[in-house]
Amino acid sequence: MTADAPRILVIEDEPEIRRFLRASLGAHGFEVHEAQTGRDGLRQASSTPPDVVILDLGLPDLDGLAVIEELRGWSRVPTIVLSARGQEQDKIAALDAGADDYLTKPFGVGELLARLRVALRHNALAAEDQASSVFAAGDLEVDLARRQTRVAGEPVHLTPTEYRLLTMLIKSAGRVVTHRQLLKEVWGPDSTQEAHYLRVYVNQLRKKLGDSSVSPRLIMTEPGVGYRFAEADER
Ligand code: CA
Repeated sequence: MTADAPRILVIEDEPEIRRFLRASLGAHGFEVHEAQTGRDGLRQASSTPPDVVILDLGLPDLDGLAVIEELRGWSRVPTIVLSARGQEQDKIAALDAGADDYLTKPFGVGELLARLRVALRHNALAAEDQASSVFAAGDLEVDLARRQTRVAGEPVHLTPTEYRLLTMLIKSAGRVVTHRQLLKEVWGPDSTQEAHYLRVYVNQLRKKLGDSSVSPRLIMTEPGVGYRFAEADER
């Protein structure tokens, strides 16, 4: 174990899932800490701040939503929630309350590592000044300082609403953003029920960016939850 191994706090009461996470994360150089209850998880998160929290939504003492709400009172640590089938509403509530992403059980090591990589990268990016950054994924290039969007080098004209939607998605590239979060940020707090706005604008945006609605490479649909923008290319 190296001194700067990312520290992952796993808050999960199921021994089998903890064993799986301990083994797979340990094998990939992460330092794994474990809590079996929400209370113990919150205590550990404050005494030994982790780089990422993996939080089960079904805990014996507090529910996961209460844990994320309390955690967000004093910590921005990237948090990935674990949900079971049938917990869709809990999962969406946790994302709206400030969780960063989710995994549905059962999940594989590849998916887990991809989520962690994104979470850790957002941590690093949040520490930098992103004001002048250019986001690039495949053919798409968005100059956030100049508010310019190009596809394969050609300028693309976006309406202010389309651009705002695009930048909201890019800010969370690689992570899921819920319908409610997008509606609130792009159209305002009174519009969180207007899911059809979002569908219409996502389709317009896909068309302008040359993305397919059938098998999108840029704006992925997370059924019933929201959208996930493609990760930025490694530079
Ligand atoms: Ca559980």
